[in-house]
Amino acid sequence: MQKDKLLKGKPVADHIYGQVSERLKILKEKGILPRLTVILVGDDPASKVYVSRKEKTCQKLGMDSETLHLPAATSQAELLQLIEKLNADRSTHGILVQLPLPSHIDEHRVLLKIDPDKDVDCFHPRNVGLLVSGKPYVLPCTPAGIVEMLKYYQIQTEGKHAVIIGRSNIVGKPMANLLMQKASAANATVTVVHSRTKNLPEFTRQADILVAAMGRPEFVKADMVKEGAVVIDVGINRKDADNEKGYVLVGDVAFDEVLPKAAGITPVPGGVGPMTIAMLMHNTLTVAARQNQIAID
Ligand code: NDP
Repeated sequence: MQKDKLLKGKPVADHIYGQVSERLKILKEKGILPRLTVILVGDDPASKVYVSRKEKTCQKLGMDSETLHLPAATSQAELLQLIEKLNADRSTHGILVQLPLPSHIDEHRVLLKIDPDKDVDCFHPRNVGLLVSGKPYVLPCTPAGIVEMLKYYQIQTEGKHAVIIGRSNIVGKPMANLLMQKASAANATVTVVHSRTKNLPEFTRQADILVAAMGRPEFVKADMVKEGAVVIDVGINRKDADNEKGYVLVGDVAFDEVLPKAAGITPVPGGVGPMTIAMLMHNTLTVAARQNQIAID
């Protein structure tokens, strides 16, 4: 294995946690204990794992956290009421509703209800608008984590062609935005492709930086990647395997065959994954500081 090509998330996440700890000290000295409240509706096993990781990371860093686990049958009105209560609670700085929600709940209405000042995911339309206009309130966790990885591994984005596979509100769209921004000096030329794109490999083969965020196990093969490209694999997919769990986690990229061609590649697991939580912690601190008019940046 050509280990030097591996763009691992853990060292970058540790670097972010170092910054978070420093900033947390400043807030605590001023009597502010940042508090993240996570709402989980239902029993989706993957969501339960993510939520418990978020809570544990908060505790490890010395921040306050609370998980509100609601039954799958919770009505939309009940969920909206709970969010209203948390919006009004001054000791709760960040509110995160774990997605996906059960199908009887309108995700858009729920995300609209969260006070944008407490929106640690950058899902509220006000914050999406601020992001697009280059004046972000907070940055969306996964795309921001990828930008931090590119910086950490000194991968230039300016003038490069970044191709993003996927146009979701969580990953693809904000990723495109961050990479094209002048304000953050990313300055890449960005192409976004999706399930209706014709001749998708023609686009991916042009990528200096290829971001795969589609949720299709090992979709990106070696012949879809340019020699020397940097490949960022956001996908987390279960693939059947003959082990205790009955599955292994794989990304959207066929790692073994793409590795020899890539200048750098993120593994799955252990690549982008750890960055999402690190940026969530960063955002929780940021919103706590902003709500208390404390400058910590
Ligand atoms: P979504 O399902 O919301 O979006 C997937 C996107 O990929 C859509 O835009 C879809 O196109 C596109 N797509 C799907 N199939 C194809 C195809 N065959 N060809 C081209 N485009 C395709 O997923 P998310 O953005 O939420 O997540 C993507 C992946 O990233 C998932 O595996 C998820 O688990 C993972 N993820 C990982 C995170 C991490 O922390 N590492 C965080 C968030 C997500 P269209 O719009 O046309 O349907």
